[in-house]
Amino acid sequence: MANQDDKFKKVISHAKEYGYVFQSSEIYDGLSAVYDYAQNGVELKKNIRDYWWRAMVQMNDNIVGLDAAIFMHPTTWKASGHVDAFNDPLIDNKDSKKRYRADVLVEDYCLKIEAKIEKEVKKAQKRFGETFDKAEFISTNPRVLGYQEKIDSILSRLGKSLESEDLADVKSLIEELQIVDPLTGSKNWTDVKQFNLMFGTKLGASAESAMDLHLRPETAQGIFVNFLNVQKTGRMKLPFGIAQTGKAFRNEIVARQFIFRMREFEQMEMQFFIKPGTQGEWFKHWKDARMKWHLSLGLGNENYRFHDHEKLAHYADAATDIEFRFPFGFKELEGIHSRTDFDLKAHEEHSGKKLQYFDHAENKSYTPYVLETSIGLDRMFLAVFSNSFVEEELENNTTRTVLRLPAVLAPFKAAVLPLVKKDGLPEIAKQIVDDLKWDFNVAYDEKDAVGRRYRRQDANGTPFCITVDHDTLEDNAVTIRHRDTMEQKRVKIEDLREIIKKEVDVRSWLMKM
Ligand code: ATP
Repeated sequence: MANQDDKFKKVISHAKEYGYVFQSSEIYDGLSAVYDYAQNGVELKKNIRDYWWRAMVQMNDNIVGLDAAIFMHPTTWKASGHVDAFNDPLIDNKDSKKRYRADVLVEDYCLKIEAKIEKEVKKAQKRFGETFDKAEFISTNPRVLGYQEKIDSILSRLGKSLESEDLADVKSLIEELQIVDPLTGSKNWTDVKQFNLMFGTKLGASAESAMDLHLRPETAQGIFVNFLNVQKTGRMKLPFGIAQTGKAFRNEIVARQFIFRMREFEQMEMQFFIKPGTQGEWFKHWKDARMKWHLSLGLGNENYRFHDHEKLAHYADAATDIEFRFPFGFKELEGIHSRTDFDLKAHEEHSGKKLQYFDHAENKSYTPYVLETSIGLDRMFLAVFSNSFVEEELENNTTRTVLRLPAVLAPFKAAVLPLVKKDGLPEIAKQIVDDLKWDFNVAYDEKDAVGRRYRRQDANGTPFCITVDHDTLEDNAVTIRHRDTMEQKRVKIEDLREIIKKEVDVRSWLMKM
């Protein structure tokens, strides 16, 4: 745990030091759980968004985009269930006066048991060496089975009590498990209460005529209310999808994990409209497709897992999370939900407008079912960034900090470095930058010794360094150095574009899906 905390702290300070993420309004001591993306962060974030958009919209001829407004008519949130049911169960500690999400306290308790399982696995792995079969061990070792049983029974009880809104039982569970305030160790808890997460605001100039609005807590509803507009004007046939990326706002109770849980964040959502009855097969399809998208980035297959929901939201008939191994353990990165016809029906009821699809083959109208894929852009950013941050021990006993960002996502694809600041080398280097920048984001750096510049670019995640030296004047060639292997090769200046393109091209990355 200490190690994990340590790594997470380093990740956060690296994000600041290298111009990726800043605390919002830092000069005023910041705003809790609100962050700004800096010069490099904004590029990485844009590249992640583009990578998603390409895979979802450009590569699927039956998925189109949308950019709906953040403000929506207030009835939207009545219809969607957010006014009545968008609550988190909160609990206060009477001694520390700190507020927690009751479900998260219980889940974190289970994570600790899970860490014990991992410890057993590691121990056994050491003992049995090469012949160790992890799957067999996990399914037969009595101690591991005991731990797993405990986790399952706790989560199943939590799921049931949340579903039936039995908040007293959630409190009993916390007491029975003797869960303590993680900051102080106190067990002096209040009752569990529900807390609505939507932010309110007002539209209109005068106090009397102003209308109470909410900042949208998810982007999905902007898609649902536009379903018929898009279907008609795009002459879309089922199955088809509408994708959108944009800001969402939630007044989160606990928001202490950097950009993992923010009060203002960005979502990338896609609602896929289908014929009722086909949701099982589409649920499987999108589970599979979304996991492939994640794996294509090469962050390590062992860092992902599905977590099927015990407790289903009021709108869903099946749901799973794609969880990622963040520095603080496995946590939700993306949700895939089979939402039935809940949303379209609810908007029909509340608006009095028909939101149905006319199926020509069957010669009848019906309300489509919906499959949703919903991922937090900031969470994805944290997944990529924290996974890429490595402190590497080198052979000469020094360490190198390197951000092994997938090249397709890196803010800068290459840095061009003149070996010295004279003899015409900077001029050639700048010419190379001027040529490459038509295709890629390219940096120019002439300050400090070249070794230091390499390290700076490594820490910044730049996949290639291109060094112009005195031989370049003669042979029109440069040295290209690869961030991850540190290998250096002499290549012709005219070949640079193709060499870089091969490594950073979205096409070749997405083809791995
Ligand atoms: P959690 O259980 O972590 O609160 P959720 O189940 O409420 O998440 P959804 O409503 O399904 O999340 O939202 C879809 C995605 O949006 C999540 O998988 C996550 O990546 C992202 N997300 C949700 N809340 C936040 C937040 N406060 N900050 C950053 N990203 C978020």
